Amino acid sequence: MPEWIRPRHLPEALEILAAAPRPYRVISGGTDLMVESHLAPERRPESWLDISGLQELQGLQITEEGIRIGAATSLEAIRRHAEVVAHWPMLAASAAVTGAPPIQNRATLGGNVCNASPAADNAPVLLAYGARLEIAHHHGSRWLPYGDFHQGYRKTALRAGELLSAFWIPYPPKRSHGYFRKVGTRAAQAIAKVSIAALIEEDRGGIIQSARFGVASVAATPCTLPTVSQYLLGRALRDITDAQVRQRVGQDIAPIQDIRSTAAYRLEIASRLVLDAIHGRGESKKED
Ligand SMILES: Cc1cc2nc3c(=O)[nH]c(=O)nc-3n(C[C@H](O)[C@H](O)[C@H](O)COP(=O)(O)OP(=O)(O)OC[C@H]3O[C@@H](n4cnc5c(N)ncnc54)[C@H](O)[C@@H]3O)c2cc1C
Repeated sequence: MPEWIRPRHLPEALEILAAAPRPYRVISGGTDLMVESHLAPERRPESWLDISGLQELQGLQITEEGIRIGAATSLEAIRRHAEVVAHWPMLAASAAVTGAPPIQNRATLGGNVCNASPAADNAPVLLAYGARLEIAHHHGSRWLPYGDFHQGYRKTALRAGELLSAFWIPYPPKRSHGYFRKVGTRAAQAIAKVSIAALIEEDRGGIIQSARFGVASVAATPCTLPTVSQYLLGRALRDITDAQVRQRVGQDIAPIQDIRSTAAYRLEIASRLVLDAIHGRGESKKED
């Protein structure tokens, strides 16, 4: 019989993991793991550690600097949260296009990034907002920029005995605009061919002060666009040429070809979406 353990609080969960980290498979909402366990019964673990009842991993708290979101908070709670909608609208939007409402009721933000799919829908937004992760261990916790979390295809920076406990997302800078777009075969219940988020900050004179991008489904891990960001810094919109941006998108990503799309289509769409994001066209939202 498989063993199913449901700790009452975070220290208990961490003690269990520290004592025997290997045999336990952490399960949160279970929307990835239940599918995997059905499709690949040979990989089904003997022991499960169910973290869905841990209060320390639940809920959203506003602070002066931003928002803390417990790793086991559901996507439904996130997309409906008034402060998220008001200040981090890209996150509300990405949570709202992750599967359909029945999935969003169970699926958690922590599960979405720990599952480490290159197509995870909330990953680009977390990259664009400059999120940080709180990672808990029996001996204490550490912080990690989300940009350092994905270390290879389905490989994360989590070590044995660790749990992702929370996300911390700062307020977007004043005079910044955000952009999020998921391109898939259908409007709902489709894995992304490409998804992109951007947060672009200008000064009063229209000069770009910072530009952060997150992209999913174009590489082995969700990624940023460092060369594009570097090109934009210190430039006014009127001085930015489409050709220069396209060239740099091509330097930053080398999309894969798979059953969902060709590499050429992904590169073209990614370039168009980056240009839309820069020029504030389409699915953007002003922060002031
Ligand atoms: C029908 C369907 C449609 C879907 N559509 C989409 C979609 O459009 N976009 C998308 O991005 N995803 C989609 N998914 C995938 C899935 O719903 C999401 O990735 C979801 O956010 C996973 O969260 P979860 O809590 O259910 O994770 P779980 O299944 O519980 O866990 C996933 C992985 O993360 C690990 N894990 C979970 N929480 C933690 C933690 N706190 N610390 C350490 N490790 C942890 C688990 O061990 C496991 O390896 C879909 C799934 C289904 C079944």
